[in-house]
Amino acid sequence: MAEPKFFADCMLGKLAKWLALMGYDSRFAGAGERGDLELVGEAKKEGRIFLTRDGKIPDVRGVRKIVIKEKRLEEQLRRVLRELGLKPDRRRFFTRCAACNAVLEPAPREEALKAVPPRVREHAVEFFRCPACARLYWSGTHVENTLKKMEQMGF
Ligand SMILES: [Zn+2]
Repeated sequence: MAEPKFFADCMLGKLAKWLALMGYDSRFAGAGERGDLELVGEAKKEGRIFLTRDGKIPDVRGVRKIVIKEKRLEEQLRRVLRELGLKPDRRRFFTRCAACNAVLEPAPREEALKAVPPRVREHAVEFFRCPACARLYWSGTHVENTLKKMEQMGF
């Protein structure tokens, strides 16, 4: 199976963010006035699996849709992974921007050090930058906490 890509409706932003943290190409519709069919159309155009909380959205040919009834994040994640038979690969965690889904690039250390708080300067080893929104990421407590949370959720 080709690597699945996701498009989540505006109710599932957190799920989209965590799928992106796990390294899956996962976009989020954001808030807005767009209709359901427009969103499904966008998923279809980009070859993405549509994730929605709304069981009433009609089926559209050529789009796979997963209706997420689960309320808790870990159950939502489990549902998506189980549905598609995916096993999260730890080596791919933190390869995408949690804000905009772009694939992160290594950032030159010298350059990154100028942009981060002093506390980070002392502890961070590796830096990554989002080529789309310029957000900086670094190895450190945030990553460790997120990994811990994933572990608690059983991933
Ligand atoms: Zn970004």
